[in-house]
Amino acid sequence: MKHIPKVELHRHLELSIRDSTMKELAPKFGFDLSKEGAFDHHFKIKEPMNDLGAVLHKFLDTQKLLATEEILERISYEACEDAHNEGIKILELRYAPTFVALDHPELSFQSIHDAFVRGAEKAEKEFNMAVGFIGILQRILPVEDNLKVMDFMVENKNSFIGVDLADNEVGFDPGPFAPCFEKAKAAGLKVTIHAGEALQEGSEKNILDSVSKLHAERIGHGIQCYRDPEVLKFVVDNKIPLEVCPTSNLLTNAAASIEEHPIQKLLDAGVWVTLNADDPGIFDQNLLEEYELLHDKLGFSEKTLLECSHRAAQVSFISEEKKQKVWPYDLKKQASEIH
Ligand SMILES: [Zn+2]
Repeated sequence: MKHIPKVELHRHLELSIRDSTMKELAPKFGFDLSKEGAFDHHFKIKEPMNDLGAVLHKFLDTQKLLATEEILERISYEACEDAHNEGIKILELRYAPTFVALDHPELSFQSIHDAFVRGAEKAEKEFNMAVGFIGILQRILPVEDNLKVMDFMVENKNSFIGVDLADNEVGFDPGPFAPCFEKAKAAGLKVTIHAGEALQEGSEKNILDSVSKLHAERIGHGIQCYRDPEVLKFVVDNKIPLEVCPTSNLLTNAAASIEEHPIQKLLDAGVWVTLNADDPGIFDQNLLEEYELLHDKLGFSEKTLLECSHRAAQVSFISEEKKQKVWPYDLKKQASEIH
């Protein structure tokens, strides 16, 4: 699987810290990793999250490590290097400035962003890859706060390729965030929205609202669309690419098992499926392993995986010129035409 050129459209940079780096940093921030299992206890989710409260501290423990510009630059560079080693040529990294800045008063949104960009620019040259950043708004924060975060992203529109709305969608409909995404649209920023992820009644409707009210051009996850024929038809007819993250879906109980994951149903229905890793650091996997999982457990052929990959390259928010420089196939060719 390693030789298949890959594209990552959905990777949270804050949750993509390399194990060796976490192990090096953690003791400096008060974590005692000497006991057996301590590292996994603080930083890894390896089993389905039956109790979200029980794992929430892992996100916050990881967040504590994001304390200085130097660390952020390093994490960004290493995330690109790791992606390169998975065979990724086009990499979209996303992060929430509000999450990184939490309890780190010495970091401003601007200093966080500049550090991430520095790390990625260094890696882009070194590994001949195309990297872009998506800025995330957190659903759990008030709209007024998110309007300010969006202003920051618009001010930096030359180094953001797009924006996103993330966190658990249950209880947080897309609609109220429309004023934030009007600003993004006016500034020419692309939009992808986490929607239709949770295995919960009505989550698939968030896909429709994300497109109609927030101008989403792609959907993060979106896998629950298969449960409603009307939503599925909408996604297919409007060629809305889904950023599918199989292992993440298993760990968050969005799918009960890989065998029951709807990815094959989505492909059969004609959905533009792309494959992604979501949170490689905390979920203890990567995109190469996602390809292996689908190949080994669901019998996906190399041809199918390459087609998903080429489609992802086409729908990446990074500029056509920048993408084509690193992508081995003609981006104007249909996925079915390449081999
Ligand atoms: Zn995500």
